Amino acid sequence: MHNKQLPLIDLHRHLDGNIRPKTVWQLAKKNNIELPETNYEDFLPHIKITNNEADLLAFLKKLDWGVKVLSSLDDVVRIGFENVEDAYLANIDYAELRFSPFYIAMTHQLPIEGVVEAIIEGIKQGCDKYPTKINLIGILSRTFGVENCETELNAILAHKDNITALDLAGDEYNFPGDLFERHFKKASDAGLQITVHAGEAAGPESVWHAIEKLGATRIGHGVACVKDQKLMDYMLKHQIGIESCLTSNYQTGTIKDLSNHPIKTFLENGLNVCLNTDDPAVENIELKDEFNLATNLLKLSEKQITQLQHNAIEMSFLSDKEKESLRQLKI
Ligand SMILES: [Zn+2]
Repeated sequence: MHNKQLPLIDLHRHLDGNIRPKTVWQLAKKNNIELPETNYEDFLPHIKITNNEADLLAFLKKLDWGVKVLSSLDDVVRIGFENVEDAYLANIDYAELRFSPFYIAMTHQLPIEGVVEAIIEGIKQGCDKYPTKINLIGILSRTFGVENCETELNAILAHKDNITALDLAGDEYNFPGDLFERHFKKASDAGLQITVHAGEAAGPESVWHAIEKLGATRIGHGVACVKDQKLMDYMLKHQIGIESCLTSNYQTGTIKDLSNHPIKTFLENGLNVCLNTDDPAVENIELKDEFNLATNLLKLSEKQITQLQHNAIEMSFLSDKEKESLRQLKI
């Protein structure tokens, strides 16, 4: 259970990892896209985790149908809108939704800048209807290589007024951060804030690199930080945040025993760590489930849960003034 006196915040939530199963099914029918099953129930295991997967890449494959059915920019607007609606229905007060324009665009060769515009439009429509506050984070999908990330970055930067930060996601093991230093320099120079998926499939060196060379002030997952006390000390000193995602870490095989998730050690070390969903529709969870896990399985105390929620406000890519109004929201 979360502390109801504080806002519910999801800082690590993939918009393109949260496409409703029903929407995937309906868009496939509308767009005449052949699916591997003729029955909706049989199709669900293709897009949802039914058991934990062997590794990160097997997990990521489950996201693919969600974007394969997007054959027009109107479809992209729809998933943007539905993501705001889902966040609202999950009682989330503020979310930073991240998306990879290249990943969304690639199957049907949609114009990549058009995809960014369509997401912004969908979010706007959602925010006009629901009170949930949203900011957007653009993702470079490292799995598709350096050149495609350059194209992706340019599309994101063309709309930087509507995008708060840049992230690096995908196959961390085979596409290490040093391939993307120039991309992140360009983004920092353009005024974007930086968060990077690191220490999930690779070790602490990947987190060091994200902080020192890519300019990350937040780390997605950062599970491997627990192996390096010097790194945790450095992160504490420089207030580098960790975006933890419990169920995701279990389903990707990153963490074998969830009751011993390193979030406990991060809290004991005083690190800025918060609780997030990652890919709710694929994982079949919502943020409240993660708080329940933290309470019931990890046995975090009420004080620690409250700390996680305070950290989320602190770690958010918001101005001091916006953070203050979030603090006041539930009081
Ligand atoms: Zn993620």
